[in-house]
Amino acid sequence: MAETVLEIENLVKNFGALRATDGVSLDLRQGEIHALIGPNGAGKSTLIHQICGTLKPDQGNIRFSGQDITALGVAERARLGLGRTFQVSSIAPEFSALRNVMLAVQAKQGTSFRFFTPVMRDRSLTEPAMAMLERVGLAARADIPAAELSHGERRQLEIAIALALESRAFLLDEPMAGMGPEGSKALTGFLDGLRHEAPILLVEHDMDAVFALADRISVLVYGKIITTGTVDEIRRDPAVRSAYLGD
Ligand code: ADP
Ligand code: MG
Repeated sequence: MAETVLEIENLVKNFGALRATDGVSLDLRQGEIHALIGPNGAGKSTLIHQICGTLKPDQGNIRFSGQDITALGVAERARLGLGRTFQVSSIAPEFSALRNVMLAVQAKQGTSFRFFTPVMRDRSLTEPAMAMLERVGLAARADIPAAELSHGERRQLEIAIALALESRAFLLDEPMAGMGPEGSKALTGFLDGLRHEAPILLVEHDMDAVFALADRISVLVYGKIITTGTVDEIRRDPAVRSAYLGD
């Protein structure tokens, strides 16, 4: 079996009287797309927030690359290689797409000041940043301010940033949301290849995309994972069909 990259054990998160995460355990293995599905309000985003560090769990552990990261902050987790794309705030809207990726390349290189080279002419930043934009299909839009990119293009940009940060796992919270069929199809193709770079925990409502992409699917209902299985297993599962797929 493939190596486990991310392991969540018995996570609990309460919002007042509401137990939004109710003892969740799951893992993410090298090379896979593990989809997390469930109705609105099931606790999918809350779980992603706890994994990337924007929310602290009340109980439970998160291990990443063999290290317990439960007590670490967002920045430390990102430095270890946890890439997330749901947070639009990771993009500086007034900067061009290229500049946004360059900031990530620079952060990764750990060099915040260069006295003699104007930053936009620094090829040690522009070249890797352009390469990332090419990989996500955004090279033609490199000079466009992030604020003027379409919703789908901003998702691509977020992935380019995560790639520049050399992420070792991707956490994607509804990357297809608000995309048209063309955009969803393109992103599906891209994610299909991306899993070989780093495994992906994919929260997604677009079931066509989930069924096309997922190696495993976990179904979250009222803060609990009711089952985990392959696409075929999940499609056949009567509990899933009644709880989620609307049979
Ligand atoms: P999903 O992403 O599956 O739609 P969420 O994780 O966003 O679900 O929400 C799970 C539950 O927790 C919902 O009932 C939601 O209203 C509640 N919730 C989410 N975030 C907060 C918060 N910061 N404070 C209080 N309740 C919250
Ligand atoms: Mg959500």
